[in-house]
Amino acid sequence: MVGILQDKDRIFTNLYGLHDWGLEGAKKRGCWNATADMIAMGRDWVIDNVKNSGLRGRGGAGFSTGLKWSFMPKEVREGRPHYLVVNADESEPGTCKDREIMRHDPHLLIEGCLIASFAMQAHACYIYIRGEYVREREILEAAIKQAYEARLVGKNNVHGWDFDIYVHHGAGAYICGEETALLESLEGKKGQPRLKPPFPAGAGLYGCPTTVNNVESIAVVGTILRRGADWFAGFGRPNNTGTKLMCVSGHVNKPCNVEEAMSIPLKQLLEEHCGGVTGGWGNLKAVIPGGSSVALIPAEQCETALMDFDSLRDLKSGLGTAAVIVMDQSTDLVRAIARISYFYKHESCGQCTPCREGTGWMWRVMERMAAGEAEPGEIDLLLDVAGQVEGHTICALGDAAAWPIQGLFRHFRPEVEERINTYRARKGSFAGHAIAAE
Ligand code: SF4
Repeated sequence: MVGILQDKDRIFTNLYGLHDWGLEGAKKRGCWNATADMIAMGRDWVIDNVKNSGLRGRGGAGFSTGLKWSFMPKEVREGRPHYLVVNADESEPGTCKDREIMRHDPHLLIEGCLIASFAMQAHACYIYIRGEYVREREILEAAIKQAYEARLVGKNNVHGWDFDIYVHHGAGAYICGEETALLESLEGKKGQPRLKPPFPAGAGLYGCPTTVNNVESIAVVGTILRRGADWFAGFGRPNNTGTKLMCVSGHVNKPCNVEEAMSIPLKQLLEEHCGGVTGGWGNLKAVIPGGSSVALIPAEQCETALMDFDSLRDLKSGLGTAAVIVMDQSTDLVRAIARISYFYKHESCGQCTPCREGTGWMWRVMERMAAGEAEPGEIDLLLDVAGQVEGHTICALGDAAAWPIQGLFRHFRPEVEERINTYRARKGSFAGHAIAAE
């Protein structure tokens, strides 16, 4: 099914915080219902169902969640405990979905942590939460306390799987949302990404087998198992299944967070959930569909784009975190992308040269382009440098810095050229006046 999701099919039924976030409220909404039965079905049953649901990681990369779980070693070796780490560092500009889960439906996340940890034979789970999420951490910790007191988690809990859950508060660095940088930070070191391989499933936290999953990926697991893999797989399109939290911001009449069926047309999402683009659909200029690191798509492509991994990949953009940033005709796109370039330059951990040097270089050129103060030939030079940063760094921050720039020139190169030419013409006429005045 594609399109508007019915209320009965929503997983996050307290997304807007209208009801009790606590244990009693969560139980009334179905959370913690039959969790022991799911665990009694065994590990393979859990992993097979998550695989069959088609759930793909909701943190941006879109890798199959069940498959990722299956990469963990089958046997737990002496001295090498398994860990689940939940990535709640949500720092991608435009993204604000995990925040809503943690402050309004935290028990869905805690229940998912227990089930996922059981499936991967982990007795400990760490939730790494973004530094700025102070209130969210307070609620999450209060919810975890409730779960301990009700013996839903902890030693000798009612589910029969000893399990401890810890919250670790980050310090506000974007790069700690990269899974290996997150692990370094969790270990008390500088948050810098590790070279892969080895992957975390082989050597993760403290060198032990670890799986890192996004908050939303984990929080949907309990409901998927309760309602069945087929139910979840029935939304969206093949390879792009399920429901998805989408965060819409920018030039729409009603910016919102909403849970929708995967593959909903972007136009329908904006028109029916967000009150439409400010000034009407004809006033739309471009949309960044998946958080600031993906390439923008122009208004023409927004007519037919679907909010899923494959449709947006085919448009050379991406679903990312499904953080939709809408820009109407009043937007100075060059300035907007220059600002995004500044963000990635600022957040680069500095570990590898193309990113450390390239992000700053690209930002400085983008700033001059936004002002029109560049040479026309610098556009190709900038694209050449962006191409050399992309895919040549330890982690994906290099790609994240290159893609918005590449997207801008793919669709709006004439706009940048016109700005440069206007600036040059004006400068020429000023120079002419100055000579005439002499
Ligand atoms: Fe650090 Fe950038 Fe290299 Fe990632 S790509 S490791 S952020 S320098």
